Amino acid sequence: MNTCLWRMTNRCNFDCEYCYVRRTPYPEYEPQDIDLLDQKIDESWKIIFTGGEPFLIPGFVDLCHRVATKHKIAIDTNLSVTSEVKKFVEAVRPEQIHYLYIACHIEQREKRNNLREFLENLDLLKRKGFGNSIALNYVLHPRLFDRLEKDREMFLDHGFSLSPTFMGGEFEGKPYPESYTPEQMAKFNIEKTWVGPFHSKGLLCKAGHTFFSMQPDGEIHRCECDTRRIGDLKTGFSLKETSYPCEIEICSCLGELLVEADRKEVLNRSCSPFNKF
Ligand code: SF4
Ligand code: SF4
Repeated sequence: MNTCLWRMTNRCNFDCEYCYVRRTPYPEYEPQDIDLLDQKIDESWKIIFTGGEPFLIPGFVDLCHRVATKHKIAIDTNLSVTSEVKKFVEAVRPEQIHYLYIACHIEQREKRNNLREFLENLDLLKRKGFGNSIALNYVLHPRLFDRLEKDREMFLDHGFSLSPTFMGGEFEGKPYPESYTPEQMAKFNIEKTWVGPFHSKGLLCKAGHTFFSMQPDGEIHRCECDTRRIGDLKTGFSLKETSYPCEIEICSCLGELLVEADRKEVLNRSCSPFNKF
């Protein structure tokens, strides 16, 4: 499905130590004219709302309601803004959702004493029919390996499977994910699944053709790594008729899913030291 990734904000009510978005200078959010978006892209496009935390944007639920009249929507969220989550389940129908990518950030919940509230929000989504759209992400900070199984069981008791994902960042002076131990890698069978940043220059890529990213102020980029402006929602932008070569040395965004190359070639181009096949 064609995809618009809408980076809405870098603001968040959590302060995860591995978060790169909060450290990235993005412009402030500006409300956009969705009629203009609809003139540019048809219903074959899905819209992914990402942040920061999209539910902090004033009027976000109304925006979801409006955009979902034409497009499937997806949201990356920490599901912590309970008052907005309650409005969301009434404003949008489950069949309008492509996915809800919900991050656990378990230590952040415990720090704020709102793990129970999180579980209640998940239960609410399930009761309202959104359960099949949920992917529950669990960033594997090295501190969490010892408790992962217990947490996994707790979420399973609520009917949700966890999807562990790599942590990208530093811990105790070591870079991750490169510094996971062989036992950790083997336990979660993650070594064959992670491409990570890869040498992308020259590969044909669908970004700029069937994919684009929109910044918080409405500026349009080919993707999150190629940050050159190709237009904006107000004055217009144009996409290419076909895939075209990547001009960025190293892709660390969604190129793994967008390049016209088989997975083996992408893995061979990976910068990760544990992906040399
Ligand atoms: S919840 Fe997501 S956006 Fe917010 S600080 Fe954590 S990683 Fe960053
Ligand atoms: S490979 Fe990555 S950096 Fe290059 S155009 Fe595609 S998405 Fe952008």
